[in-house]
Amino acid sequence: MGEEPRRIAIIGAGPSGLFTAAALLAQGGDDLAIDIFDRLPTPFGLLRYGVAPDHASIKAVATTLARVFEAPRVRFLGLVELGRDVSAAELVAAYDAVIYAVGAADDRHLGIPGEDLPGSRSARQFVAWYSGHPDADPQPLAGVRDAVVVGVGNVAVDVARILLKDRDDLSATDMPDAVLAELRTAAVEHAWLVGRRGPEHASFTTPELRELLETPGIGVELLGCDLADIDEEALERHARANLAAIARAVDASPAEPARWLHLLFWHRPAELEGEGRVQSVTFAPTAEGGSAVTVPADLVLRSIGYRGLRLPGVPYEDGRIPNLEGRVVETDGSERPGEYAVGWIKRGPVGLIGSNKKDAAETAAHVLEDLAALPPRPLEDLDAVLAARGVRPSNLEDWRRIDLAEIDRGTIRGRERTKVEAWHDLLALVSRP
Ligand SMILES: Cc1cc2nc3c(=O)[nH]c(=O)nc-3n(C[C@H](O)[C@H](O)[C@H](O)COP(=O)(O)OP(=O)(O)OC[C@H]3O[C@@H](n4cnc5c(N)ncnc54)[C@H](O)[C@@H]3O)c2cc1C
Repeated sequence: MGEEPRRIAIIGAGPSGLFTAAALLAQGGDDLAIDIFDRLPTPFGLLRYGVAPDHASIKAVATTLARVFEAPRVRFLGLVELGRDVSAAELVAAYDAVIYAVGAADDRHLGIPGEDLPGSRSARQFVAWYSGHPDADPQPLAGVRDAVVVGVGNVAVDVARILLKDRDDLSATDMPDAVLAELRTAAVEHAWLVGRRGPEHASFTTPELRELLETPGIGVELLGCDLADIDEEALERHARANLAAIARAVDASPAEPARWLHLLFWHRPAELEGEGRVQSVTFAPTAEGGSAVTVPADLVLRSIGYRGLRLPGVPYEDGRIPNLEGRVVETDGSERPGEYAVGWIKRGPVGLIGSNKKDAAETAAHVLEDLAALPPRPLEDLDAVLAARGVRPSNLEDWRRIDLAEIDRGTIRGRERTKVEAWHDLLALVSRP
């Protein structure tokens, strides 16, 4: 490589963006200058705003991910949104390589009558709210007794656990005060988790399922299928472990628990009903011999998958940026040299934090391979473009100030951290010369 560092922009400071920066540095040495942009003034993406607040040990991955900012030529530029503050064309003109790591910030819809009734929401919005995302809408919960979660993945398991868990057990987390107060207004007695297929097909992972099933004080009921009818021999190990966990939880259920978790399989939502707000959901059977079930519901959370948003000026296909092992291509397959994708926007909204590491290594390897083959070219100065437009990025110091403010807020309350969730509070902590 040449004497001038090659310049790389990573758009999105979530796990995949930060793993990519780390992989580039590990594979490419000191010859790179890396700018990591995010629309928020805080790094870590869904690690901060998705991973459940009571999963503190996973949240600790942030410490490892943040190490990349210690490298001398790595910058964090917060409060810069691709599509609002900067265009893809401007990035391409200013960097040798542009890597899209924007995750999946939209969700799928059920497309059934009543879906838009008040009280019917997406699990993504609910998660963003309890995680203190500054864009999250308030989630009124007063009087919620019957909650239905449509979906049987890990996100569905997370939201069901948060709804069923004793409020005192959540008060040690980093949830914003307003969220904890709102959660206390709900008195969930019945939470439903509903899957279109059987428990052997559900995508939740065993530790997460067990944690939900072992929520203190709950009873577990299984509906829509009989575990004895499932041919376990044909199943993979994790599916067998899931079935065993469900069987144990049903057997161990107290006779009159304070709260119930109902697991309904082989049913799909057909209609949400209610006068002025959701009051019940009718599920149609998806297996032969099944019958329709109507479940009372004050709250319905659809948890049927996140979905990537379209970035202006960037190819897009069915919730992802089309790519070949991270190299962006047009929807007709033609090349887009110098543009790359990584993480959920590259491969779809699946996989744990760790899955993004391998994925990042693949994208980083292609970036370096392509850079080595291309001579340096004259680049625009993006800092000047942003300044002329009045866009003033936040930096790492600003994030550290937010971090310390959250730790201070927590200390006063006897907690490790309490999130700063409002935009005006976050922006007040961002220095503006
Ligand atoms: C509810 C939930 C719970 C989860 N729990 C776990 C768990 O317990 N354990 C685990 O291992 N994994 C968990 N995961 C999975 C994990 O969060 C993902 O694998 C990972 O976050 C994906 O990383 P990413 O960088 O691709 O996307 P993201 O984490 O979404 O990061 C994308 C970043 O891009 C930024 N961005 C978006 N658009 C723009 C734009 N236009 N301009 C600038 N910046 C932009 C965003 O602000 C964000 O910071 C969970 C996921 C969800 C949804």
